[in-house]
Amino acid sequence: MNKNAYSTIDLSARRNAQMGIKMNILVINCGSSSLKFQLINAADEKLIAKGLCERIGIEGSQLVYAPTGGEKITTVTPMKDHTQAIGLVLNALTDEKAGVVKSLQEISAVGHRIVHGGEKFAASTIITDEVIEAIQECNELAPLHNPANLVGIDACRELMPSTPMVAVFDTAFHQTMPEEAYMYAIPYEYYQKYKVRRYGFHGTSHSYVSHRAAKLLGKNYEDLKIIVCHLGNGASVSAVKNGKCVDTSMGLTPLEGLIMGTRSGDIDPAIIEFIAHKEGKNIDQIMDILNKESGVLGLSGGLSSDFRDLVAGYEKGDAASVRTMKAFAYRVAKYIGAYTAAMNGVDAICFTAGFGENSGFIRNLVCDYLGFLGIALDEQANKAQGEETVVSAAGSRTKVLAIPTNEELAIARETFALVK
Ligand code: ADP
Repeated sequence: MNKNAYSTIDLSARRNAQMGIKMNILVINCGSSSLKFQLINAADEKLIAKGLCERIGIEGSQLVYAPTGGEKITTVTPMKDHTQAIGLVLNALTDEKAGVVKSLQEISAVGHRIVHGGEKFAASTIITDEVIEAIQECNELAPLHNPANLVGIDACRELMPSTPMVAVFDTAFHQTMPEEAYMYAIPYEYYQKYKVRRYGFHGTSHSYVSHRAAKLLGKNYEDLKIIVCHLGNGASVSAVKNGKCVDTSMGLTPLEGLIMGTRSGDIDPAIIEFIAHKEGKNIDQIMDILNKESGVLGLSGGLSSDFRDLVAGYEKGDAASVRTMKAFAYRVAKYIGAYTAAMNGVDAICFTAGFGENSGFIRNLVCDYLGFLGIALDEQANKAQGEETVVSAAGSRTKVLAIPTNEELAIARETFALVK
């Protein structure tokens, strides 16, 4: 957590903390072979423990468990499925020596990150049998993610049958987009039959960061036009006008939009057929290339998918790194320009996620394009790494902020709000 814990939390949380109220929320983020977790006391918003199960169902699986203030413990042990993995997590949390709670009764609720809520979910919701069915119906929109998320729900239901659970969707925040922003210009029947449209992802992050920006600026959330640039391995931009998301760069899937670690982002769709013919590849192989071998990894000629390596290369004048970082920053700037038009102005631009919140270099490179918004960065402030900071200069017409995202805290908050 941010070292100024109280600067990132609501006043209500401060009051709860003073009253000694506890509301331990287990936040679960289940992937196909991994599971990340955090136990957060939603009353004072303090992180109690966190960890990760890796290689679930694969040889060499391990649990990394880190209680706050304690030593990190890595246990290499077989995990045949997610139920077993969650069982190990619960054992670690309640362990006599390294545990942080006495029993599972001290876990008040579980918040699950769910990638795709389709058009069905515009907000977080308490998990019931009907909700599980509705999430299943979204599986074909996120075949790699949703089934794994559901396995996490099943496993928790089995092991903690009386603990309330909440689903928090990556797509929900973007459900306020108007039709002109979410429709693709392909035959309308594909929307009617298959719900092919823009959904957007990273919604929990875009919501959290845009709210924090309003707080930091001392302004009403509903009065602002905010652009959030979530720049991590996965990267997306969103436009938030008067407290509602009006556009975002990811689409039906997280492949559209910005150049990412290994994902191409926007390309001419005809490239798919062109490369398939030239290289004798089928559609699945091409999609694999666009998801896993493209982005900054592909554009740099295979140098790296990690932005730190590319920044280091850029600073040394390496041609591949320069080409890649310039194209990355240009794409971000282009989206900022588009979303400024979409909102007829912008008050604040936020940079978040691993690259955005830590790298003054990328904020600088992007903002070099934005003189037309009256933007000037404060060189000293823009050195900020992982701390909420206004990085624009005092006279900057549009404010620029670096804001660390905290999706787990946002999920804990949503869960707390629904079960308290
Ligand atoms: P994801 O959650 O999508 O996996 P993250 O938000 O963790 O991604 O971001 C990972 C990216 O952030 C990596 O490419 C990494 O190089 C970059 N990053 C992390 N810390 C820094 C830093 N201090 N400076 C520049 N880039 C950083």
